[in-house]
Amino acid sequence: MTTGPSPRPEILRIHPYVAGESSVAGVNRTIKLSSNEGAFGIPPAARKAIEDAVGETYRYPDGGAEALHAALGKRWGLDPARIVCGAGSDDLLYQLCLSYGGAGRDIVMSAHGFTIYEIAGTYAGSRVIKVPERNLCTDLDAMLAAVTDATRLVFIANPNNPTGSMLSAAEVARFRQRLPEHVLLVIDAAYAEYVDRDDYDAGASLVDTSGNTVMTRTFSKMFGLAGLRVGWCYAPPAVASVLNRVRGTFNVSVLGQAAAIASLSDPHWVDQCKAHNTKYRQIMTDSLRAAGIKVWPSVGNFVLADFESVDRANAADAFLRTRGIIVRKVGPYGLPHCLRITIGTAEETNMLIDGLMAFAHG
Ligand SMILES: *Cc1c(COP(=O)(O)O)cnc(C)c1O
Repeated sequence: MTTGPSPRPEILRIHPYVAGESSVAGVNRTIKLSSNEGAFGIPPAARKAIEDAVGETYRYPDGGAEALHAALGKRWGLDPARIVCGAGSDDLLYQLCLSYGGAGRDIVMSAHGFTIYEIAGTYAGSRVIKVPERNLCTDLDAMLAAVTDATRLVFIANPNNPTGSMLSAAEVARFRQRLPEHVLLVIDAAYAEYVDRDDYDAGASLVDTSGNTVMTRTFSKMFGLAGLRVGWCYAPPAVASVLNRVRGTFNVSVLGQAAAIASLSDPHWVDQCKAHNTKYRQIMTDSLRAAGIKVWPSVGNFVLADFESVDRANAADAFLRTRGIIVRKVGPYGLPHCLRITIGTAEETNMLIDGLMAFAHG
C-alpha cells in the first residue's frame, strides 16, 4: 500500500525514449552514426552567430521568435504568422498531443513510426493506435480504416524514421481528402531537406489548403543544430493560435534563435549537404547490398540495414562497436532485426562500409 504521490496510471506505461548512444568505452575514436545528425556539423554562419549572441544570453529571448519566423517565411515561402517554433520539433509534437489528444481522443500512427508520437500521445491521455505497415511503408488505407469518430490526431513522418520510406505528395493529399475534417493530420517532415524526389512535398501546400493539417520541421538534422533544440511548425491559423496559448513562453533560446536564423542564410548549405547525402546514401546502400546485407530504400540521411534476424543484427552492432562505430538499434520501433545507420562524412561512411563488409565476410 503506497501513500506517496502517484501520476496518472498511463504515465507508468510509457517506455522512456532511448536516444542514440554517443560513446564506446575503450576505443580511441568514436564514429557516431546513431542519431541522424547532419554530417557536417554546425553551419559556419551559425557558429559565428552563436559567438556573437553569447553576450545577450542574460536576457530572455524574444518569446514570439519574430525574426526567426520572418527568416523561415522568407526561406521557404511561407506566411510567418502561421509558423510556431519549439524547443526542437519534439516540443511541438508534445504540445499538439496535449492540446488535441486526451482521454477519449485517439491518436493513430504507423507501426514503425517515430516513437515520440506514442510517448507524447500516451502522456496526453490518448489511446495510441499503431497501424501495421506494408513492406515497411506507411499503409494509408489501413490508417484510414483505423480512424474512428474518437480519432483526433493522425501522425505520419514523411520521410519516416527509422524506415526511410516516403509517401508521395499525391498520396498524402488524397489521404487528407479522405480523412474526416475533425482529424488533425500532422506531417512530420524532419528529413524534408534530404529528399531528392520530384513527387515529394513536405506538406506546406496542404497546410494552406486544408485547414486541418500541420507540418513540423527541425533544425536538428541538415541544419546541424540538434544540441540547441530548435524546431518549427507550419499550421492553420486556428492551430497556431492553440499552440501559442500552451507552448513554453520562451521555448527557443537566444542562441537557438540566432543560430537558426544564420543557418538559413547560407545559400549553399542545403544543396551541398543534400548532394553529399544522396551520393553517400547510394554508396552505402550499394556496398552493403554487395556484402549481402539487405538495405531498405531510403530518402533520408540514414539507411535501415536489415539483418533478417535479431541475433545477427546484435552481432553486427557489437562488431561495429569494437571499431568505435555506433549505429542505432531499432528494437523500440519494432524492428529488432535491423540497425539504422546515419550517413556521415565520406570517411565515416567508408569506415562503416569496411566494418560491415568485414562482419559479413567474417
Ligand atoms: C529527429 C526527428 C525529429 C526532430 O526532433 P527535434 O526535436 O526537432 O530534434 C522529429 N521527427 C522525426 C521523425 C525525427 O527523426
